[in-house]
Amino acid sequence: MSRTLAIIKPDATGSGKAGKILAHLEAGGFTVQALKLVWLTGSQAEEFYAVHRERPFYGELVEFMTSGPCIPMVLDAEDAVVALRVAIGATDPAEADEGTVRRLYAESKGRNAIHASDSDDNARREIGFFFSESELLSVGAGLR
Ligand code: UDP
Ligand code: MG
Repeated sequence: MSRTLAIIKPDATGSGKAGKILAHLEAGGFTVQALKLVWLTGSQAEEFYAVHRERPFYGELVEFMTSGPCIPMVLDAEDAVVALRVAIGATDPAEADEGTVRRLYAESKGRNAIHASDSDDNARREIGFFFSESELLSVGAGLR
């Protein structure tokens, strides 16, 4: 088993799709290890997406990610990073495969319902951005 980070984005929380997306991921074999609701500040969104700082869509992306609450979650699965990227589909929902989260629930390339880490290293960094060690279920369970 390995671990990745997903974020249900503000377009999806704002249109009442968060529960459907979570159900879709659970049905797809992902196990929730940690989950919270957060409303990012501008500087938090800028830091999270710092890798895209020079891209033309960066300002719009930060504005969108701070427009409402997000639901970051840690998901476990076999080969979790790759499996979640497959489950969410292409960045642009018009190019995403049938049955993927973005094909089903995203509005547009920018407002695309969900984030997923793109490598094990980024998954570790992104999980650490949102969750402390004590908030991760397997660690907490080990302490009981
Ligand atoms: N994005 C955008 N326009 C683009 C490319 C990306 O608005 O042309 C946004 C979109 O919300 C995307 C995020 O920036 O999910 C991060 O881009 P990335 O290329 O990392 O796509 P992802 O890994 O989310 O599929
Ligand atoms: Mg990405």
